[in-house]
Amino acid sequence: MSKYGFLGIGIMGQAMVTNLLKAGHEVTVWNRTAERCNLLVDLGAKQGKTAAEVVAQCEITFGMVSDPAAASALCFSEGGVLEGISTGRSYIDVSTVDVETSCSIHNAIKKKGGRFLEAPVSGSKKPAEDGALVFLCSGDESLYNDAEEALNVMGKRSFYFPQIGQGAQMKLVINMIMGTMMTAFAEGLSLGDKVGLEKNDILEILAQGAINNPMFQLKGSLMAEGNFAPAFPLKHMQKDMRLALSLGDSCNQALHTSSAANNAYIRAKKDGCSDEDFSAVIKSIEQ
Ligand code: NAP
Repeated sequence: MSKYGFLGIGIMGQAMVTNLLKAGHEVTVWNRTAERCNLLVDLGAKQGKTAAEVVAQCEITFGMVSDPAAASALCFSEGGVLEGISTGRSYIDVSTVDVETSCSIHNAIKKKGGRFLEAPVSGSKKPAEDGALVFLCSGDESLYNDAEEALNVMGKRSFYFPQIGQGAQMKLVINMIMGTMMTAFAEGLSLGDKVGLEKNDILEILAQGAINNPMFQLKGSLMAEGNFAPAFPLKHMQKDMRLALSLGDSCNQALHTSSAANNAYIRAKKDGCSDEDFSAVIKSIEQ
């Protein structure tokens, strides 16, 4: 029996499982598109036939899929997490979803005697590869403690919030700030370019001042050279903006800047940038 299972081998899952394997852990993986597990199987992972089989065979199973619809399908559909869960089995959903989705998964798993933790991550492809993610957890505290070893392999810090849903809320707040920073950054680069300033000069000057930050540093030069290979796909950024705006709605918080940013991502999706990095929002801003 593997100690850890992992469902959802996309950009993030691939990097996170690689780190678990490198640290010497046995991991059983499953992905809807089975071939995406091949690289990990070559690295020593076992591959399950269904999500339910992985959950039933592993002590702790992680799920890392696109959005609320995918997280629900992974849990509730035939051959899904719920079929495999029982007393003694645990599920940690590290996808970015809304509070409602997380709560419905939490309730269903508890009803079957399993343990559940929501643990969305802050950090993108590179931090995932470097084992430097930040986990934002809430749910079963004993599971949080039992998962510490794995969380420490995949991440640099973990936070625990007592109430289920607070991990999801924290993640949405953080990503909403990031999403609006990116559109402001892209508008600045685009405006500078239109009036004849060099993007690299803007980046160098930004780097001297108080608004310098790792995201501008990491993404800026890639944006200047037109490299939008996906680290954080734009469609997921727009999903996070949408979920954050809905969270704002739920507590009467006006979100003017974030609403405008969300519209920029929607337009970029229409312009065909869904599967590119979220920094590709600059392409539709530049038009
Ligand atoms: P990704 O590369 O697009 O991978 C998405 C994964 O979800 C794939 O394994 C996909 O399976 C699976 N999936 C989609 N719909 C499904 C369904 N209905 N049933 C089962 N599996 C389904 O995404 P990612 O970048 O790894 O992101 C995954 C999650 O992490 C998202 O919630 C995202 O917001 C969050 N996140 C991403 C980053 C980042 O920088 N990339 C950072 C922090 C958080 P298939 O291969 O079969 O399509």
